[in-house]
Amino acid sequence: MGNENYIYDCIITGAGPAGLGAAIYTSRDRLDTLVLEKFMPGGQIINTDRIENYPGIPQIDGVGLIMQMQKQAQQFGADIQNGKEVTGLKKLENGNIQVECDNEIYTARSVILSPGSSYRKLGVGGEEKFRNAGAGVSYCGTCDAPFFKGKKVICVGGGNTAVEETLHLTKFAAEVIMVHRREEFRATKVLVEELMSKVNEPGSNLKLELDSVVASIDGKDKVESATVKNVKTGQEKELSTDGVFVFIGMVPNTGFLDSFVGLTDNGFIKADCAYLRTQVPGVFAAGDCRVGAAMQLATAVGDGVVAAMMLKQYFRDPQWWNEPVSDAMQPQGW
Ligand SMILES: Cc1cc2nc3c(=O)[nH]c(=O)nc-3n(C[C@H](O)[C@H](O)[C@H](O)COP(=O)(O)OP(=O)(O)OC[C@H]3O[C@@H](n4cnc5c(N)ncnc54)[C@H](O)[C@@H]3O)c2cc1C
Repeated sequence: MGNENYIYDCIITGAGPAGLGAAIYTSRDRLDTLVLEKFMPGGQIINTDRIENYPGIPQIDGVGLIMQMQKQAQQFGADIQNGKEVTGLKKLENGNIQVECDNEIYTARSVILSPGSSYRKLGVGGEEKFRNAGAGVSYCGTCDAPFFKGKKVICVGGGNTAVEETLHLTKFAAEVIMVHRREEFRATKVLVEELMSKVNEPGSNLKLELDSVVASIDGKDKVESATVKNVKTGQEKELSTDGVFVFIGMVPNTGFLDSFVGLTDNGFIKADCAYLRTQVPGVFAAGDCRVGAAMQLATAVGDGVVAAMMLKQYFRDPQWWNEPVSDAMQPQGW
């Protein structure tokens, strides 16, 4: 039950890797920490059963890792509450921050915003059914390319991430087909040049299907083919494939922030990349919700840790909030 007169040291909004990483640090520092999570702890990473790039853990499934992080945070005293959707925030004159959730108000000296992002979906048949690298639909080449070694994949998109991730996949897959709905790419010139030079290599494993979209993803238990439609001619063809990688952008879960903190045009939280300070003193942004995020598990956890360390600096000296990023910060220690 929210008691707005009770003042937490820190409220964390979202119990994904960033939020839990932060909670482990704040609660271990004996800061009174409340974590408000809309669904259940875990965030995006619980959708995968194979993580191979989290340093120190050769292989683990998302749920297994998150259960350990949650336990670790709770052992240090973090109060993690599930089914609690944060719907608004307010900065008080005394510097504290009010957090609105389920018609209740919670108050804290600092807030770490860690609501994450969601991959933009194609919205075609088969996408949901096979949404898992094991079944064949993925949204992250960096995460899942090694699982497609020697296989055939289709990549969808035309921006920087799409081009970078597609080029990355050519190092693993035997055949990569890049499907883009226009003739021109949105990606920067240098990336497009790199892409075209790869396409034009003799015996290249990369082919383009331009002016085309994926109309459906098909298969029995796993992806076996995809139907690709040319948007100019209307012609459809079925391509045999083991996987479909969708690189059409991320949608940050920041709608509830409204005008509370500064957001970019596409909704990412503006925060300085060194200390993760937003435009509101005492409010940090961590993980996939912030501008410039690397959109990885390890970096999300790292962001949570940075925010948790920096809020102690803010408690020591609230004026620090307005100072420029400095190379003279004292080491924080552990
Ligand atoms: C299928 C899949 C596989 C992946 N595999 C890998 C991998 O192998 N390696 C890797 O490095 N990365 C991987 N990633 C990416 C990685 O999962 C993300 O980069 C990471 O989860 C980001 O963490 P986060 O805490 O910033 O956000 P999220 O994980 O998105 O967590 C945000 C949390 O905040 C909650 N929330 C949102 N809004 C509110 C609100 N208003 N109030 C309260 N709570 C809220 C959400 O419910 C969620 O629990 C994968 C992603 C997916 C989808």
